[in-house]
Parts: sequence; C-alpha cells; structure tokens
Amino acid sequence: MGGGTVATAAVLTGCKQAPTATAEGFAQGEVPTDKMTYRTGKHGEKISLLGYGCMRMPTIEGNSGRENNFELDQEQINRLTDYAIEHGVTLFDTAPPYCKGRSEHAMGIALSRHPRDKYYLSSKMSNFPPNTWSREESIKIYHNTLKELQIDYIDFMMLHAIGGTSKDLSGRELSPMEVFEARFINNGILDFLMEEREKGRIRNLGFSYHGDVKVFDRALDMDDTVHWDHVLIQHNYVDWHHEAVEQGGDADSEYMYNRLAEKDIPIFVMEPLLGGTLATLNDAATKQLKQKDPQASIASWAFRFAGSQPRILTVLSGMTYMEHLQDNIRTYSPLKPLNDDEYAMLESIAHQLSNFPTVPCTGCQYCMPCPYGIDIPGIFSHYNKCVNEGNVALADDADADKKAYRKARRAFLVGYDHKVPRLRQADHCISCGACVHKCPQKIDIPAQMKRINGYVEELS
Ligand code: SF4
Ligand code: SF4
Repeated sequence: MGGGTVATAAVLTGCKQAPTATAEGFAQGEVPTDKMTYRTGKHGEKISLLGYGCMRMPTIEGNSGRENNFELDQEQINRLTDYAIEHGVTLFDTAPPYCKGRSEHAMGIALSRHPRDKYYLSSKMSNFPPNTWSREESIKIYHNTLKELQIDYIDFMMLHAIGGTSKDLSGRELSPMEVFEARFINNGILDFLMEEREKGRIRNLGFSYHGDVKVFDRALDMDDTVHWDHVLIQHNYVDWHHEAVEQGGDADSEYMYNRLAEKDIPIFVMEPLLGGTLATLNDAATKQLKQKDPQASIASWAFRFAGSQPRILTVLSGMTYMEHLQDNIRTYSPLKPLNDDEYAMLESIAHQLSNFPTVPCTGCQYCMPCPYGIDIPGIFSHYNKCVNEGNVALADDADADKKAYRKARRAFLVGYDHKVPRLRQADHCISCGACVHKCPQKIDIPAQMKRINGYVEELS
C-alpha cells in the first residue's frame, strides 16, 4: 500500500505530520475523522460528499477485478470500509454486475459488521440481458440485491444505465428509447419499484444515465408521476462543457445538472476523474495546478470541481487503494469550494484536454516502416511534446490571447519541420491501414494522422 500505509499508521497512532506530497502527487499527513462535508438527501439523509463506489475492488491477485480469474480480497475490503466509515463516509454504491457479480456480496459482508444506521446503501436494477427483461426475472434481481447486501430495505435504488442500446432476444438492435421501455416500462418494473418505495423497502428511487439524452429527457418528464429522489450522472470539469461522444454520452453535464436542479432532484456523480484521465494530466496542466497549490493532488482538483456545485449530493469514487481513499477524504474534509479563478483555470485545462488528447505512442517503432514514408513515431512524439509543454492552441483562442497563440503556433510549426522532414509528415498519409495491426497500443494511426494534420493545416 506504499505511502498509504505510512499515512494510516500516523492516523492510528495520533501522530500528526506536516503535509507533504508523495511521488504520485498524493498529499500525506493527517486524515481528519470529523470534518467530512455532508449534504442532505430528499428525505433528510446525511450523505457524505464522498461516496464509496464499489465497481472495482481489491483482489487477492492485485488485478482490477475485471479479469476472468480473481478472488476479491475481503479482508482488505473490510479494512477500507471500516476506514471510510471511521472517517465520515456514509454512502456506499454498488450494483449486481460489479466485479463480475461479486461486489454486492462483498459489501454485504463488509457493511453488515456495522450498525445499519451508520451507512446508506445504493444499488441498481441491472436487468441488462434481454432474458432478464420480464417482470419475474427483474424482480428476482431486486430480491437478490437485498439478500446479497444482507438488508431488508435499501436506501437508494436506481434504474441502471438508461440511455444505452441493446439487442432483444431475437437479435434485433433496439434504439435507446425502446430499450428503456422494454427494461422498465412495458414489464411494469418501474411501477413495482415505486410500490416497493411506498412500502418503505426502497427509501429513494432514481436512475443512472449514460448515452442518449432523449432518454434522459423522457425520464425527467416522468417526474410528475414518478417523483425521482436522485439521479446519477457523469460529471467532471471536462464533461461540464466538452462531453465527448466517445465517452458514451451526447450532452454536456451542465445541461443535465441544470435540468435536475430545475426539478430539485439531488444528484449523484460518477466519473469525477473521467475514467482516471483527470488524475494524471500533461506536464503543462500539472505545472499550472501545482503552482496554485503544491500540496494538492491532481485528482483533488477534479473532486473539488465535482463537489463545488450545491445540488451534488455525493461524488462516487472507486477507491481500491488506501491512498486514494485518504486523498479523497482529505479533499472533502471539509470541501473547499472552487473560487472563480480556479473554475476558469479548470475550464481552460478542460478545453485543452478535449481538443488536444495526447497519443499513447511509446515510440516502439513496430509500425515502421510506413510504405509511404510517414515518420509515425516522430509525428506523435512532436505532437505529444507540444501538448505536454502547453504549446498548442486553436484559432478560436487567438482572439482571447494573441501572444500565447502566436507562441504555440510557432513552436508547433517550426518544431514540426525541424523534427519531421516535409515528405514524411502526416499530410502524406493515405490511410492505407498497413500500420494499424502492428501497433501494440492499438492506436488508430490513420485517424490520428488526420487529426494532427487538420491541426497543422489550421495553424498554417
Ligand atoms: S495508414 Fe498512413 S501511416 Fe499507416 S502505413 Fe498507411 S500511409 Fe503509413
Ligand atoms: S507501433 Fe504504435 S506505439 Fe509503437 S511507434 Fe508505432 S504508433 Fe507508436
């Protein structure tokens, strides 16, 4: 557990250390037990701003729990759960398919060792395969959730991942709206869950959303009859204004946040780190954040962003390692809301990240030689270097900051000609595809060539 063990030991012995940063950028030192920021649920629940996401959990093998062969490390899960509760975390979120169907069971073991009024449990109606779309099969999933979690009522239940596509039993591809109807409406499952809420076995009923925004809007339009108690959305400083279609969504999180705020529906957040992307940034962005606060981890900025908006009830984070848990507890104990300057800084980093993703090229040369003479690793290396040094800018930025735009333009174009001879540059790629299968990083080389060349043309 590396630095995490050191920090834990310090807490257990009551020893206070001056905060320092580890090589990974995590702050070390005291982890407060009594300063967690709380928000209030629709029915008065005291929910910690940090929610424990249980999609990935520690395994004996040390892998992520996504592989086929693994055994969950129950001792470590118990330890992390106890530590989270001792440090003020009150919300744990799981779902039937997490950790290949083992997460609910493991959390049932870990949490049943604590009094039931010390934690809130959230899980989902995950009737994804079409053979579970019948009322009977879906109800079986629900009862199994209560059994695995060892509870007789659940605090937060969600329709899991509305907005996605699927095939039906005959193999026909259904639209996201048809899937929504088949999974929750036509089979009466939403009505069933509302009845369970009436009976007190579900305390809050909501949905989680990925994908087609029409389904999100449709579900919200049902609020007058369903009275949603909470909704789980993907929310972070990139998705706020730059939702990427390849991330599975098609609407900025600002849109969803505002629609939920209008209806006064509390918001759960997933992907505060955008799948880990916002935990390690390029050199230029890292430098910018470290100049603002040398002690703060890069991830903590994303958590502060996610927690700063007042409608957010809880921010879910999968914390497999003690040092992640400790870092997140520090960030929210208590939350220091972002000020206007910090919002602007994160917005400019988001703008850069969404327009200039680095290419994960290791320079291994397996794709070479290109039959058309393209210097594939040379082009990626120059582009990545410019991104990492912050020497990239779009023409749209030129009005805002002429000096920075000119500097970035010069650095990119002059350096490009210097490093890669003209005849070997990206504009000579004919997308023949001969290189693609050779790349161990699975980079879509022709697509990246097109993207980089588009940028070069814009600068030229
Ligand atoms: S796709 Fe482009 S870079 Fe790849 S081999 Fe063909 S011409 Fe070369
Ligand atoms: S094979 Fe892939 S990772 Fe290796 S140099 Fe080529 S593009 Fe880069």
